[in-house]
Amino acid sequence: MRVYNFSAGPSMLPLEVLEEAQKELLDFAGTGMSVCEISHRDKAFSAIVEEAEANLRGLLNIPEEYCVLFVQGGASQQFAAVPLNLMHTGKADYVVTGNFAKKAWQEGKIFGEARCVASSEDKTYTYIPDVKTIPFNDDADYVHICSNNTIFGTRYVEFPEVKAPLVADMSSEILSREIDVKKFGVIYAGAQKNVAPAGVTIVIARRDLIENPLPQCPTMLKWKTQADNGSLYNTPPCFAIYMANLVFRHLKKLGGVKEINKINEYKAGLLYDFIDNSKFYTNSVEKKYRSIMNVPFVTPDKELDAKFVSEAKAAGLVSLKGHRLVGGMRASIYNAMPVEGVQALIAFMKKFEKENA
Ligand SMILES: *Cc1c(COP(=O)(O)O)cnc(C)c1O
Repeated sequence: MRVYNFSAGPSMLPLEVLEEAQKELLDFAGTGMSVCEISHRDKAFSAIVEEAEANLRGLLNIPEEYCVLFVQGGASQQFAAVPLNLMHTGKADYVVTGNFAKKAWQEGKIFGEARCVASSEDKTYTYIPDVKTIPFNDDADYVHICSNNTIFGTRYVEFPEVKAPLVADMSSEILSREIDVKKFGVIYAGAQKNVAPAGVTIVIARRDLIENPLPQCPTMLKWKTQADNGSLYNTPPCFAIYMANLVFRHLKKLGGVKEINKINEYKAGLLYDFIDNSKFYTNSVEKKYRSIMNVPFVTPDKELDAKFVSEAKAAGLVSLKGHRLVGGMRASIYNAMPVEGVQALIAFMKKFEKENA
């Protein structure tokens, strides 16, 4: 029996996509081979990479002056790739709004003067600093942000207007809402939250920004290497790219990002409304900045939180335990979480409150 999986990542994939993959697992596109067995130099595979890129371009309206790359190493690898490709004068600005934003900043410090220009750590990352009042430096090679903070459940509602290229880690929200790619120099996202199984990371970079990686940048971390080779410089994560493409096709069929965003807003709205109207559950994020992907919440005490997580699991609502930095619960309700899953969670929350309040 399939459960509702609220894991922050790797996370749920659309059932239709899993069934499609199952159907062609043994014989992909009449090749008599599994997509897991096929050479990455085979035409049938390069067709997947090309289609995945075209589908992603369509879904996010990515202009021609940006390259789209499928790489390995996770978003964490990009924490190093960003300075190694962009930190030409050795200075960059970071906005620290959570654990991953902080890790990116710390990685940046290995390569140069990475400056934290604003942070929300003072209130345990429950808000996003006002982008209009952040003292960005004019000499920054780039400005780095994390657009949706997976652990703390916040997201940017507007993006900073900066002179330097804006670099965004969108791992836990890519394809969940419409974005104007032209506002960014580089966008990157590990796929295992909203796109595919773990293994592939998406990089969308303005072509003029990838031309001069730092001399010490390893070949594999140069975005230009990947761009010049159509993401096929070496063996790519073939199966993850194939799955990403199935998810892109699925999203196109649903009507694209605009349509899935309506559903995401609706799902998150149901959950936040319920929490706000309850005296038992609390979400401490400043309302304006609440994420529509990751919803942390607590009951009045820690022991009840643990009881909640285990009873929810028994009821088919799994992976609701909050991140160890935050405690409590976290419901990750990515694109693939159906409305019914959120409704089932709310019904369980009501029942649990009645029995334990
Ligand atoms: C999960 C996550 C990461 C880490 O991704 P890996 O692929 O495990 O390296 C980085 N940033 C954000 C925002 C995330 O949600």
